[in-house]
Order: sequence, then C-alpha cells, then structure tokens
Amino acid sequence: MGITENYQQVLQTIPENVALVAVSKTRTVAEIKDIYTLGCRDFGENKVQELTQKYKTLPKDITWHFIGHLQSNKVKYIAPFVGLLHGIDSLKLLKTVNKEAIKNNRVIPCLLQLKIASEETKYGLFQHDLIELLEHDDFQILKNIRVVGLMGMATFTSDKQQVQEEFEYLKRLFVSIKQQYFTNSDYFKHISMGMSGDYTLAINCGSTMVRIGTTIFGERNYNK
Ligand SMILES: *Cc1c(COP(=O)(O)O)cnc(C)c1O
Repeated sequence: MGITENYQQVLQTIPENVALVAVSKTRTVAEIKDIYTLGCRDFGENKVQELTQKYKTLPKDITWHFIGHLQSNKVKYIAPFVGLLHGIDSLKLLKTVNKEAIKNNRVIPCLLQLKIASEETKYGLFQHDLIELLEHDDFQILKNIRVVGLMGMATFTSDKQQVQEEFEYLKRLFVSIKQQYFTNSDYFKHISMGMSGDYTLAINCGSTMVRIGTTIFGERNYNK
C-alpha cells in the first residue's frame, strides 16, 4: 500500500475531535506532498535543521509541530514559524522560547512533556517538576508562550496494560492540572499521546492529538 492509502486508512480510525500530526521526520518533501495534497496540514519533525529546510520548501499553510527534544540554542531557528512545541521539559527552555517569541512578535503554543514511561532515556517532567514549574514566579510572567496542554510517550513495550496505565495517568494528570491551574483557560485542552503502535489505545484513554509516522509513511530509513 502507498502513503496516500495509508493516510486515508489512518484518518478513518481517528475520531473527528482528535488531531492527527503526520510525523514526517526522515521523509522527503515529495512524500510529504503526497498527503498534503489530500488535505494534511499538520506535520511533525524532531530535528531543527530538517524542519527548517522543509519549512522553506513546502507550502506556508502547513502547521509544523516540533516533537523532539529541543535545545535552547536552537530555538531561534524555528521560533519564527513553528506551530506547536511538543517537548518542553524545563522552565529554562520555556524562558528561551518566550524570549525568541518576543523577538518574532508572536505567541508560541507549547505542550509540557511528562515522563510517563518506565524507560530511563525518555525526556520529560515528573509530576512534581510540572507543579513546581507552573507555580514558579518566573513562569507566571511569560507572556509570549502559551501552554496548551501536555504531551507524553508511553514505554516501548508489547505490554498493553502498562501502556494503558501510562496513558491513563497522563489523562488524570491533565484533568487535575487543568482544574488547578487552567480553569479559566480555553487554551489548555490538548493531550498529545499515541504513536503508530499505540494510538488507538491512546485515543481510548483520552488523547486529543496523535503523532503518527510509520503507519502512514512506512518504516523509517535513517541512512537514506
Ligand atoms: C518518531 C516519533 C513519533 C512517530 O513514531 P511512529 O512510531 O513512526 O508513528 C511520534 N512521536 C515522537 C515524539 C516521535 O519522535
């Protein structure tokens, strides 16, 4: 099956109120255009240079999602155009994003990444870090970032029960954080969770945004 068929099939399995981010990292501009033509306008990248290149080449009505770990010194390259930052995991990074957003005279939407997986390597905040960040005076004064929700990646495992528990944990955390810190905000509404292997489960657990690469584009080849 080709990319367009895959994309159409994925769309059929996602409810209307769940956003689809097509994860296009390592994919060519031509591959991206295959589904841009079908109406896809949300693409996810995890390398700053690759994202910047693709942004320059592709139509300007695309919303670019940065889904990787973002280094502070690289924020400036994507601040002019990035649509949503999924991987914010420190106040320091948030301050840098705010600073670059001011330079570009815009407000940059951000998701705070929670560490929900049991693996050591995954980035993200623990619950207590999240609360500390939200309560910090330095956070309150940031006017050019907008926290629109939470993001998480489940453990890479075939144990569906474990993955489900991790997604349910993120959903519960989202609800309590919204209630405590964002009661009067219409913006705090996203839970970005679910990838090719686990997005159906994530949606059942309350995901509002899934990030899907392999199921749409096929296996990634990093040596291309
Ligand atoms: C690569 C990546 C995805 C997509 O993974 P697939 O398994 O190809 O769907 C989703 N989220 C993040 C953060 C990623 O880095």
